[in-house]
Amino acid sequence: MTTAAHPLASILPADAIAEPEAHHLTDLTGRTAFGRADAVVYPATTEEVARVMAWCYEHDVPITPRGGGTGLAGGAIPLDGGVILSLDRLRRVRQFDPLLWRIHVEAGVTTGEVHRLAREHGLRFPPDPGAAEQSQIGGNIACNAGGPHAFKYGVTGRWVTGLEAVVPPGEVITIGGPIRKDVASYDLRSLLIGSEGTLGIVTAAWLRLVPAPELELPVAAFYAGVGEAVAAIERVLATGVVPAAIEYFDGTTLRFAGGSFPGGVPAEAGFMVIVEADGAAEEARRAQRELLEALREEALSLHAPERPGEVAEVWRWRGGIAFALLAQKGGAIGEDVAVPLDRLAEIAEETLAIGARHDLVALSFGHAGDGNIHSNFLFSPDDPAELERVEAACEEIYELAVRLRGSVSGEHGVGCLKRGALERQLDPVTLELHRGVKRLFDPKGLLNPGKKV
Ligand SMILES: Cc1cc2nc3c(=O)[nH]c(=O)nc-3n(C[C@H](O)[C@H](O)[C@H](O)COP(=O)(O)OP(=O)(O)OC[C@H]3O[C@@H](n4cnc5c(N)ncnc54)[C@H](O)[C@@H]3O)c2cc1C
Repeated sequence: MTTAAHPLASILPADAIAEPEAHHLTDLTGRTAFGRADAVVYPATTEEVARVMAWCYEHDVPITPRGGGTGLAGGAIPLDGGVILSLDRLRRVRQFDPLLWRIHVEAGVTTGEVHRLAREHGLRFPPDPGAAEQSQIGGNIACNAGGPHAFKYGVTGRWVTGLEAVVPPGEVITIGGPIRKDVASYDLRSLLIGSEGTLGIVTAAWLRLVPAPELELPVAAFYAGVGEAVAAIERVLATGVVPAAIEYFDGTTLRFAGGSFPGGVPAEAGFMVIVEADGAAEEARRAQRELLEALREEALSLHAPERPGEVAEVWRWRGGIAFALLAQKGGAIGEDVAVPLDRLAEIAEETLAIGARHDLVALSFGHAGDGNIHSNFLFSPDDPAELERVEAACEEIYELAVRLRGSVSGEHGVGCLKRGALERQLDPVTLELHRGVKRLFDPKGLLNPGKKV
């Protein structure tokens, strides 16, 4: 069918309607495309998003919102036909008030663009999920994305003061705005944040910014094993200094990705911890001294870059890990369970044991300070049997996380890949409340069906 003859051509310009391609049916987990869609639409305004939603609701057509497609839970993949609604063309910065530390952007603005705009004005948008050049603010809000600096600064939701969204059957709503406090209503803002496109389509957001720290001083410390590393993290917390980030990387991660670590990795290293001090220059230097002291005991070596270029290299390396792992076999499922901090060693060790039981290459790294672990299992996308073993291994990781009183997802969301995992975590009454919320927003169940609940 030509796009001019497409049923949606009555409500959208012809160039805003396209045939789905394979890349629309996957995200960045490295799986081959799956699912099915009938059309992809590229609305350029909130009104066009509302028109698409109204048309879909009238014709009982499922809608799958899609941001940058960097998700790691299959949330943006349509499972059984319908329309993929891309936010790519909602790219305007509606208002930027650097002196008031706030910005109003449309959903399709990339995370990297918000970082750059903030930086050019001496400010910072702290959420820093790893695929920032491709992920969009709408996608970050839909997943309530975190990142390494969430330890000190919190996840995306903490920085959103207002939302504009389109909700079924095609209505535009605004919640909050350029205000820093608002307790008047039920907290629908928080309900939409992290709802993975199942309750509404975010079209714009007011974001809070903060003055950028004058100095950022990471320290990388290498240890023989997980025991020494976890003891070091506990000493770091005991200093009372609040690090901007506390990250960890196990020995296998270092084996696959450590070759490009600035400063090199000692041959005997079985674990690395990166902790960062930040703030005004004097404050950051004093904090770094205390962190160095806490990390030194039992460390095989320490790497403490100070020049901005060297500091940036450390975080660039950190941002490239997922790609280094994908390069090993072509596919990597990176789980993101969260556990209480005192169970970190257990889940890191269990990840390896679970991997061994399923004959898989397993490893873990992640946001240690938040107890948010990326247990990874590698696979070849053209080996279905291996992928099945990965799925079985992931089931064990969810079970373990729940047993340790954790969560099946600390930042990527449930999507379709973790479907059913929420049932393990929530009691039946809480689960039914979730289903009730979904029914209230989306009575026909057309918005991102098969995801989250
Ligand atoms: C290398 C790499 C590193 C990563 N590091 C991190 C990390 O440190 N922390 C972290 O949290 N995540 C991380 N991620 C995961 C991913 O980047 C985030 O989940 C990101 O927030 C997804 O944004 P996106 O725009 O790509 O969304 P998509 O992948 O397009 O969609 C994700 C979900 O959001 C929904 N959605 C998208 N846009 C909207 C919208 N406007 N309104 C309503 N729903 C919408 C989709 O339907 C889907 O359910 C990483 C991914 C990669 C590949």
